[in-house]
Amino acid sequence: MEKHAGFMKALKCRECGREYPLTANHVCEFDFGPLEVVYDYDRIRHSLTRASIQARPKSMWRFRELLPVAGEPTVGLEVGCTPLLKADRLARRLGIRELWIKNDAVNYPTLSFKDRVVSVALSRAKELGFTTVACASTGNLANSVAANAAAAGLNAYVFIPSDLEQSKVVNSLIYGGHVIGIKGHYDEVNRLCAEIAGKYPWAFVNVNMRPYYAEGSKSMGLEIVEQLGWRIPAHTVVCMASGSLLTKIYKSYQEAMKLGLAPEARPRIHGAQATGCSPISTAQKAGMDFFKPVKPNTIAKSLAIGTPADGFYALRVMKDTGGSAEDVSDDEIRDGIKLLAECEGIFAETAGGVTVGVARKLIASGAIPADDSAVLCITGNGLKTLDAVVGHAGYTREIRPSLREFEALLDAEEHAPARA
Ligand SMILES: *Cc1c(COP(=O)(O)O)cnc(C)c1O
Ligand SMILES: [Zn+2]
Repeated sequence: MEKHAGFMKALKCRECGREYPLTANHVCEFDFGPLEVVYDYDRIRHSLTRASIQARPKSMWRFRELLPVAGEPTVGLEVGCTPLLKADRLARRLGIRELWIKNDAVNYPTLSFKDRVVSVALSRAKELGFTTVACASTGNLANSVAANAAAAGLNAYVFIPSDLEQSKVVNSLIYGGHVIGIKGHYDEVNRLCAEIAGKYPWAFVNVNMRPYYAEGSKSMGLEIVEQLGWRIPAHTVVCMASGSLLTKIYKSYQEAMKLGLAPEARPRIHGAQATGCSPISTAQKAGMDFFKPVKPNTIAKSLAIGTPADGFYALRVMKDTGGSAEDVSDDEIRDGIKLLAECEGIFAETAGGVTVGVARKLIASGAIPADDSAVLCITGNGLKTLDAVVGHAGYTREIRPSLREFEALLDAEEHAPARA
């Protein structure tokens, strides 16, 4: 064991169980299984209690013992503790008794849940002595690595497919790091990054740092549990790209139960994808344990991973918890974005439209019973995917600055308001 490992014990292969030291390493050399951080839960139990959590500042780091840094975190100290709001109007529209929105569209600093994984990965990268950080990204990860690296004084190389939404590109460039557009889809970007990671001494947050990075997603689930008054939700709907977030939400619920933070429950975890890139939901619906890789074609670019690294484990979580999966078309994604905006005043990106659209289908089919309670994980902000909704959000009506023209416009409305 490393001398200063904090509450971590080792990295452990998810397939064969072999243990590895806590370095920048993500794959077992015997069977190529993914490595995962294991913790000393007996020690954590003594220092992580409801009371100790509630006495700490409002950020994801209030769950510090369950996050893989050895010392104190140094990057992203303000990340997390986003709102969990009771969505009564949306609940009525979707036909469910109780509905909650976990709103990472307003996460700090780059308006997506990726700030959680990046603050963990960069804090750990600094501990391990790296000065350059990098990532393969579908957009939000690039934004977050670029921003958090700038604030931490780290060198950044972010790799993205060259056809991303303009806002995601600009939101990466503005921080002054190196942004490299690859003429290809995400899976090709990722393959290139695996090669680069083997050659350069860089901390690739979702390649060689992946075991640490992925653990950051647990904070979203732990916050949900705390914000529900230390209760595990019956149903959670999570959108899937690589499938990592979904598996880590479940892990966080299991840890909350194991540590006595929440009473035992049987949470069901449901996965959401876009029909234009649905390797995981397609496999789940067919009852398969393995997915078939696809070539993405969807407006939900942040979820466009055709060969999802954690797809196999996401399928297992849905199977083990009695969850289900669905996917939605581009039009249904836009409908989902509009529905959430009109009911709750939240403008989510395309991934959020996927989550809302899929929740609607799962409630309609009874996979999520109408008399039950569900949490929807909204993971990114609509201002970053304007391209997807321009021309679909309605139109402005233009008049000259004249009261007469305004009242003519009102008179033309079907339900004109009463005049004074
Ligand atoms: C990356 C991302 C996800 C899902 O990520 P996983 O790879 O499945 O962990 C979900 N929503 C948004 C907006 C994302 O950027
Ligand atoms: Zn192994």
